[in-house]
Amino acid sequence: MANCRVSETFGSMVFNEAVMKERLPRDIYKALKKTIANGTHLELDVANVAASVMKDWAIEKGATHFTHWFQPMTGVTAEKHDSFIAPDGSGRVIMEFSGKSLVKGEPDASSFPSGGLRTTFEARGYTAWDPTSYAFVKDKTLYIPTAFCSYSGEALDNKTPLLRSMQALNHQALRILRLFGMTDVKRVSSSVGPEQEYFLIDKEIFLKRLDLIYCGRTLFGARPPKSQEMEDHYFGAIKHRVAAFMQELNEELWKLGVMAKTEHNEVAPAQHELAPIHTEANIATDHNQLVMELMKSIAAKHNLACLLHEKPFSGVNGSGKHINWSLSTDKGINLLEPGDTPCENAQFLLFLVAVFKAVDDYQDLLRVSVASAGNDHRLGANEAPPAIVSIFLGDELNEILNALENDTLYLGKEKIQMEIGATVLPHFPRDTTDRNRTSPFAFTGNKFELRMLGSSFSIAGPIIVLNTIVAEVLSQFADILENSTNFKEDLSRIVKRTIKEHKRIIFNGNGYDPSWVKEAEERGLSNLKTTPEALPAFIDSKNVEMFIRHKVFSRNEMHSRYEILLENYSKTINIEALTMIDMVNKQIIPSVLGYQKELAELILNKRAVSADISTCLEDELLGKISRLSECLKKRLDYLYEQTIAVREVKDSLEFARAYREKVFMAMNELRLVVDELETLISSKHWNIPTYAEILNSVT
Ligand code: ADP
Ligand code: MG
Repeated sequence: MANCRVSETFGSMVFNEAVMKERLPRDIYKALKKTIANGTHLELDVANVAASVMKDWAIEKGATHFTHWFQPMTGVTAEKHDSFIAPDGSGRVIMEFSGKSLVKGEPDASSFPSGGLRTTFEARGYTAWDPTSYAFVKDKTLYIPTAFCSYSGEALDNKTPLLRSMQALNHQALRILRLFGMTDVKRVSSSVGPEQEYFLIDKEIFLKRLDLIYCGRTLFGARPPKSQEMEDHYFGAIKHRVAAFMQELNEELWKLGVMAKTEHNEVAPAQHELAPIHTEANIATDHNQLVMELMKSIAAKHNLACLLHEKPFSGVNGSGKHINWSLSTDKGINLLEPGDTPCENAQFLLFLVAVFKAVDDYQDLLRVSVASAGNDHRLGANEAPPAIVSIFLGDELNEILNALENDTLYLGKEKIQMEIGATVLPHFPRDTTDRNRTSPFAFTGNKFELRMLGSSFSIAGPIIVLNTIVAEVLSQFADILENSTNFKEDLSRIVKRTIKEHKRIIFNGNGYDPSWVKEAEERGLSNLKTTPEALPAFIDSKNVEMFIRHKVFSRNEMHSRYEILLENYSKTINIEALTMIDMVNKQIIPSVLGYQKELAELILNKRAVSADISTCLEDELLGKISRLSECLKKRLDYLYEQTIAVREVKDSLEFARAYREKVFMAMNELRLVVDELETLISSKHWNIPTYAEILNSVT
């Protein structure tokens, strides 16, 4: 595709605004627009016309099927395809798509996680069209983005609470904006740009690693002689095979309306990143799911495998996902950008300190939103931000806030007395030299960047938390300010008080430094190191009440999610343990025995020739391998026993803890022996690809 054509093909497979306007009858278009803008109910006659027009358009694009596309709590998307065909009564078919089929679907949903929300006898769930996210055609199918709920209306997916959190944030932000006289703003939404990291390796090599196939990460692997030490991969020249993959990925994403923008090699060998241009949270979430899906399917076409796991290789940087998050109005104003007038600046400061307070008050919730078995390998492991949540501000803004809090002079270029609502703040240029990459949550000039997510995450979870906790604090501010008799004074008091009370969450130093852990503890910040430690915070009553207050989750929904997260953790470790046992039995032990046999035969042969020939090397090697083999056997048995013993635990939290404390620990012990054996066994006998082979498999 020549570059000049990108602007023509961009969004060509999307039933977007332009297509709707062109193809829908005027009244239908208007009604649909109203539904999209205000979330109002869609009448069936409108839906019928929209469906019919959509179907004709999709057929022109080659579609034969349609699917309600949804995001159950598996972290990935789900789809069930139905063709458009319907019998015409004379043995032939017509292509049909009704408004009812567009608006609502009833997938047999009994096998999706519900955390007890849906018992099997009432297994039906339903999907409901989300008209705020455009339908699109992919793989000869019309995809309709939908929310997924139980029959009693409880959310079984990520989209429903995300949309609710956007509404909560909109409602509270508008209350604040009214107070500043911004009456023309109709809507405030969260804007999100997710940066996605991933690994690309050769498919043949991938297929030889059962751990990568079943678990997405390697469970064994000795350190290669060269990995990322020289930092020569970061921003390095992109190899042809990778470039061809990236090109096809971009083209397909563009057709689907995803604004793929930046791509580069990352720190680890075989690691890359893709970032799209930011867009509304709901769309960004759908698009990020598409990005992950297409990365996998397009990689396969290029004989590559795309690894989205957050830690595929031990000792090599894992993959994360950064969510760039800001608040913008329907007039295109970014509320996290300092304005040009004193009033705009006062407003900016209020939103800014609202985020501080929200992050400080609900540190635990943000931590939970990025908790998973995979991400436990990264957070706190000196490559990703620590499990301690803190905010990075940068020197200039820090100084300004200090001056505000203490009524001192701001000693920047101007040396001025900072006064809320009376001074104009400087804009904070995106400073590329002072990028603190160790901070979990950094202010980068006009947005915040949450850097704690694992690469395989749905971005919905952390956005739901961010949106809701900020909505909560804005509502507290609005409650005070709406009843204020002296707006300026109360505003100033709120800003100062919030800085004072919540500055413990601000940390501009090195998050990887061990001294930070100590300091954070002294500041009273929470440090929930592992998933089982973090998850109970989700159902802490303060957090449950907050979500209920903003109608984002019901109590039932929160408890069910908590159960799903716990279960997911235990299942993940269980699959990893079983895969390890399988690989040791079927691949590692045969390799070790094969080499031992060869060595033993060599020793015997040599001795048969003459007792004087030295077998010193072989003896020593065989001795070492034999001792390690014994240890291997013991640790294998121990791991096996732990996987059995854990089944006795009934409580789901205790179950997850047992997986962490018993099974996972036993896995680590077993891995140590295997990795040591790998360094001794000849390549001829070692029958699984090594780290060196995997990481350099794409040439
Ligand atoms: P870096 O790697 O330097 O952090 P990238 O260019 O890789 O930056 O990604 C930055 C991301 O931030 C992009 O997705 C970009 O669209 C997004 N972004 C920029 N401005 C905003 C904003 N106001 N709100 C949300 N996201 C934004
Ligand atoms: Mg980046």
